[in-house]
Amino acid sequence: MNILVDLGHAESIASAEAELLTMALSLADGGVVSALTHVPLQDQLVADLGPYGVGRVFAPQTVAADVSATDTGLLESVIRETGPRLVLASPTADATEWFGRLGARLGAAVITEAIALAEDRTVTKSVLAGTHTTRVVPKTDLVFVTVKANSIEAQPAPSATTPQTHRCEPGIARPAARIVSTSPAPVSDRPKLTEARVVVAGGRGLDGDFSLVEQLADELGGAVGASRAATDAGWIEHSAQIGQTGVTVSPQLFVSVGISGAVQQRAGMQTSKVIVAINKDEEAQVFEIADFGIVGDLNDVLPQAIAEIRRRR
Ligand code: FAD
Repeated sequence: MNILVDLGHAESIASAEAELLTMALSLADGGVVSALTHVPLQDQLVADLGPYGVGRVFAPQTVAADVSATDTGLLESVIRETGPRLVLASPTADATEWFGRLGARLGAAVITEAIALAEDRTVTKSVLAGTHTTRVVPKTDLVFVTVKANSIEAQPAPSATTPQTHRCEPGIARPAARIVSTSPAPVSDRPKLTEARVVVAGGRGLDGDFSLVEQLADELGGAVGASRAATDAGWIEHSAQIGQTGVTVSPQLFVSVGISGAVQQRAGMQTSKVIVAINKDEEAQVFEIADFGIVGDLNDVLPQAIAEIRRRR
């Protein structure tokens, strides 16, 4: 089966893209894995794709002003050229929008936030605030799937390739809207919340001060997340909210600090591989899903944890 991996605006490969490419190659079964970047091709990207067995890479020559319509047009033109049965991307806001538009236009199934995919394109995903796992079998010839980070271990292909590079142009750009300005999010040295292997998240128990959570995250090389109580209070930006109405994370390690573990919050993190909870209330719901629980005041526990990590380094 031919598979297309939409890398968004990637100029090189990070862990989430490496995981998508690994998944694509494991499913292709002799078919061609192609990749699309929506920005002009960088040598670094071509070099990064070879070890993952990518056969063809597509990129535009320039980036146009009518961004969203052009992005959709680029993806559509590459789909027509490569004939995939499966198109994969990370579950970013951009990819989710492009897949939705094209799914409607091409009569293709769109399935978001998968956690696993089988060779017959059966998709596994969490639903109903993470309380159930469902398997979805697409019936259309083409299916678009966004895949959550950390769903698969990234692994280079048994034999590397030299990807053929192709220039692509938006075939049918139908600008229904024009982006007049964008304001980039503040740059952070921390990994992206949705892709991080370690997430340290804080809740109302922090009482407005995220500094200990940030220190622990930095010691562990992780990202900082939050409960809705913390984001609603304005203690941290809304993009850090994890849960039913926030982002979903699935890191190797999730440290929950001063968070009660309401079902809506758990929906965004309960597929984490290892969950450590710190809460002063031994009855807190979060302990129901924690692999390790520490009953105590976070202001005592976190400084000791940070000091111990530093001592062992
Ligand atoms: P609380 O429930 O107030 O818990 C604070 C915890 O901190 C308590 O367990 C307390 O024992 C502990 N604590 C206090 N002080 C300390 C200390 N010094 N040391 C250690 N522990 C301490 N919530 C989300 O997070 N994400 C969502 O996406 C989301 N979506 C929602 C959607 C809907 C439709 C609804 C109705 C609600 C949603 N919520 C969501 C809200 C959710 O129900 C909870 O209200 C929220 O998660 C509570 O946040 P919290 O755990 O930080 O606060």
